[in-house]
Amino acid sequence: MTLLSISKILKIKNIKKYKNKIITINGWIKTLRNSKIGISFIDINDGSSINNIQIIVKKDLNNYNKIKKLTSGCAIKIMGIIIKNKKTNNYEINVNYIKILGKINNPKKYPLSPKYHSLEYLRKISHLRSKTKLFGAISRIRNTFIFNLHKYLQSKNFLLINTPIITSLDTEGHSKMFNIKYKNNNFFNKKSYLSVSGQLNLESYACSLSKVYNIGPIFRAENSNTKKHLSEFWMLETEIAFYKLNKIISLSKNILSYCIKQTLKHNKQDIYFLLNFNKSNNINHITNIIEKKFIEIDYYKIINILKKQKIFKNDNIRWGISISTIYEKFLTEKYFKNALIIKNYPKKIKPFYMKTNKDNKTVSCIDILLPNIGEIIGGSVRENDINKLDKNIKKNKLNKKQYNWYRDLRKYGNTPHSGFGLGIERIIMYITKMQNIRDVIPFPKYPNYSNF
Ligand code: ATP
Ligand code: MN
Repeated sequence: MTLLSISKILKIKNIKKYKNKIITINGWIKTLRNSKIGISFIDINDGSSINNIQIIVKKDLNNYNKIKKLTSGCAIKIMGIIIKNKKTNNYEINVNYIKILGKINNPKKYPLSPKYHSLEYLRKISHLRSKTKLFGAISRIRNTFIFNLHKYLQSKNFLLINTPIITSLDTEGHSKMFNIKYKNNNFFNKKSYLSVSGQLNLESYACSLSKVYNIGPIFRAENSNTKKHLSEFWMLETEIAFYKLNKIISLSKNILSYCIKQTLKHNKQDIYFLLNFNKSNNINHITNIIEKKFIEIDYYKIINILKKQKIFKNDNIRWGISISTIYEKFLTEKYFKNALIIKNYPKKIKPFYMKTNKDNKTVSCIDILLPNIGEIIGGSVRENDINKLDKNIKKNKLNKKQYNWYRDLRKYGNTPHSGFGLGIERIIMYITKMQNIRDVIPFPKYPNYSNF
């Protein structure tokens, strides 16, 4: 007796191998239809595929009277034989045993009754929403994407370094950090926070192990109640010794291209289902990234473009401003209609750790912006001139003493190095065209909401 997943069954090439072979499937009922002649057709799903498999139950089954009363959502174990429906060419199961594992207690009260539910409603039942086709598809896409991040980086000999979640350091030099307290707050004898980035820790490892990365949770007390910010999200962070900006640019393009290509390959049906749900009828946005269609442009050129636009004539656009969401949208969706890599931002709007360019005004950095999403990657060469770094620490009013260990890296075997961070949820939004970041993470956390 072989336990098979639905995805495995659907991939069977030679059905003859399974002739008269009893197989087992565990899953949940999606739909159940009883015919008058004493046969029931039940669609079941086990999460391994977006597709269900139909099982055929006849009235001679010993518990048929109980089975035919089951409802959508019940968990069952079945045993039967795989057959090919000659009309539809689909595989089906002729069932000879069903065990009821978990019923729906009160079908009328079941929060996921088979009608339309809004995304807002589903968010409130995050513990159940993975039972829907939509959230099943999102989960599988997320899984494939993250798995392939590991696969790609491992194939290029990157080392996975798990960076700490608890820290006493403010990586970005801003203060959107969650405090950690335990009773009287003296637990660590020092103000401690949930990490806003593992970058500084990765830098330390890159300066001895060369190529390192982490995929981990990030915590930011962003007040912004936007559709693309979470209080807890996941980020790929890479850090590579001896890399300069052009290498970071090609690495980011290669990672995005490879991982999106693999996701399209392994989750084609999931992706098409979601795009269709989001009223999109093509995958151009995906193929553009696979084909690495990015426009690389300097920040100052972007400012010159924005200055010329009539719609922004009252905005006082000038060198030094940050590229806010409206400009991101205009550039990627209207002006270039393309993914953008913007380089060399003004030093004064970027964090202290970025390397100052020769002009002494800009830093060697990139932001990658995608249509409909905005920023998905931020990266830079790191400042490894200790004098310049110290000046930046001072200018940003950071506590120099706290950064001593980070400064040590510039004293002991100082190496040029660079890295970037990729927001996992943002890229999943891009692939799937889901509109709200709260729907592409299993249990979203945002201002005024920390349930589950
Ligand atoms: P933004 O300007 O969009 O807030 P950021 O400049 O704060 O982004 P970084 O600090 O460079 O972002 O973080 C790297 C990446 O992490 C971003 O490019 C984005 O993909 C993602 N990211 C940043 N903040 C959030 C958030 N609050 N929720 C989800 N993803 C985020
Ligand atoms: Mn931010």
